Amino acid sequence: MSSTDEKAPGYDEKTPVLIVGGSLVGLSTSLFLSRHGISSLLVERHAGISPHPRAFNFNMRTMELFRSVGAEEAVRQKAPPGFQNSGILQAVSLVGKELSWVTQDTTSSELSSVAGCIIGQDALEPVLRARAEELGSDLRFSTELVSFEQDNEGVSAIIRDRTNGEERTVRARYLVAADGNRSAIRQQLAIRTYGPGSLGHQLSILFQADIQGPLRGRKLAVCFVHNPNVRKGSSLVFARNGQGLALFTPYFPDKGEREEDFTGEYGIELVRGAIGIPDLPVEIVNVRPWEVAAWAAGKFQQGNVFLVGDAAHVTPPAGAFGANTGIADAYNLAWKLALVLKGIASPNLLLTYTEERQPVVRYTAEQSFAMFKRFSSAPTDANSTQILPYNSIAFGYRYHSTALPRETADDTWYEDPHHPTGRPGTHAAHILLERNGEQFSTLDLFGRRFVLLTGNEAWREAAYNVAKAAGLPLEVYCIGDQGDFTDPSGRFFATYGIKPDGAVLVRPDGFIGWRAQEANQQPEQELGNAFSLLLGYALAKENEVIYS
Ligand SMILES: Cc1cc2nc3c(=O)[nH]c(=O)nc-3n(C[C@H](O)[C@H](O)[C@H](O)COP(=O)(O)OP(=O)(O)OC[C@H]3O[C@@H](n4cnc5c(N)ncnc54)[C@H](O)[C@@H]3O)c2cc1C
Repeated sequence: MSSTDEKAPGYDEKTPVLIVGGSLVGLSTSLFLSRHGISSLLVERHAGISPHPRAFNFNMRTMELFRSVGAEEAVRQKAPPGFQNSGILQAVSLVGKELSWVTQDTTSSELSSVAGCIIGQDALEPVLRARAEELGSDLRFSTELVSFEQDNEGVSAIIRDRTNGEERTVRARYLVAADGNRSAIRQQLAIRTYGPGSLGHQLSILFQADIQGPLRGRKLAVCFVHNPNVRKGSSLVFARNGQGLALFTPYFPDKGEREEDFTGEYGIELVRGAIGIPDLPVEIVNVRPWEVAAWAAGKFQQGNVFLVGDAAHVTPPAGAFGANTGIADAYNLAWKLALVLKGIASPNLLLTYTEERQPVVRYTAEQSFAMFKRFSSAPTDANSTQILPYNSIAFGYRYHSTALPRETADDTWYEDPHHPTGRPGTHAAHILLERNGEQFSTLDLFGRRFVLLTGNEAWREAAYNVAKAAGLPLEVYCIGDQGDFTDPSGRFFATYGIKPDGAVLVRPDGFIGWRAQEANQQPEQELGNAFSLLLGYALAKENEVIYS
């Protein structure tokens, strides 16, 4: 699959989707599109990846998404085994008194068949890059977007090869901006951002030191330190794949501080203060500033341009939501773009990208902001309440949009994923099914097509007829003793909130799209109406109860 096999008159090349930014979210977008059979051209300004630790905690939902594109195993192979299920510590110093401890439980067999993964961004990006190339993505590093403009039919762009300065014109149907928090694309579109904004600056001090003794065999991802020899709000970060460790320390460029103030003796003093050993041999490798912020763009789409990842929203690092949320954006967008580009869905479906993702982002940012405040201050008896469960945040959000039915007037955005209801807009729950003595998670059925799950053969025939007429990619599975899968736990129908003669339709992103709680006299018509809504042809009016 190549993005350049067709030339547009007057342009050097043509592609269905131009992706700008080849970090985690841009690479994920390219991967997800490829999985749906859509070629794209990705340009990334840098030749390689940053050695500084940034994202390292990838939740179960993100790993489900990587599994759906065949990247899970390769990611796990590169993940350092010692850091899985590691802890977040608050302590006076690494060797000092422990104040609080949270273990990051990266697994929950109740919620998913797929465990989360601790892996540094520096190790993850090459894995995603390799898998994307394997699936035929056109990835161009050392290449930048110079300019773009859009019209009703698409986007015209100029890209530049930074190794030789050569510029090329590109015509794309859609542009995906994965160009990070300072997104020049977002700025050109004059899309405003909302939220608390900047919460301060931090400096990542990358250093080498022997900390095996101070670690005392503890499995730690992060240690927040609270003592007078370090700045308030400092943390040691361990979960990396490359060489060295990092101290994140507050940094005040507005008061005249400079990065070079931290590369010598002062930086070493701070590291020793955090570890708690005044004469520990320490070598500073380099330093890199970053801004702690919480904001979201007012909209994630303008015409043919979509913002994903940090270009659309930024959360403080607490809770490790940044990249996870950005990757989920890409997953939500990719199937919609694919079906619109294939002429199966209405372009109106694309409007639901902002509708569905923006509230999730807002809530996630609130959680992260609260955690950031908690971790920035030493725990006391008054504020030692338990940290919110990461997994519930990753799985519990619920989409509402004009392409989703509303069964009741209830518009709750969240449901406890430990008690799934099967309502449209929720994550389709993990249940172990069996075929020929082998177990499968329901999750393994989702990711590429719409999937109809039922206990009633009448729905199968109706679904195939509707799918054939619409040219829809659809799979149907009957659950039951005579069906395609048996349900050894007997939980399937109750968990998805249907009777055995009902049916549930799961979207290609693994979210419930529609369900009929029981048999229907006119299954074909019911399904036809459902698809019409899910594909953006019959947008639901706000507050309208479509199915009851
Ligand atoms: C200290 C720290 C710790 C974090 N920890 C976690 C964590 O544990 N878990 C988590 O989920 N998230 C974490 N995050 C957040 C996470 O790192 C970001 O959310 C994530 O990297 C965003 O990815 P992105 O692809 O959207 O943007 P970026 O990583 O910012 O990538 C944007 C890319 O676009 C490229 N680009 C920009 N303009 C152009 C152009 N004109 N042409 C071509 N290329 C261009 C840039 O070179 C860059 O590579 C952390 C962040 C920080 C700072």
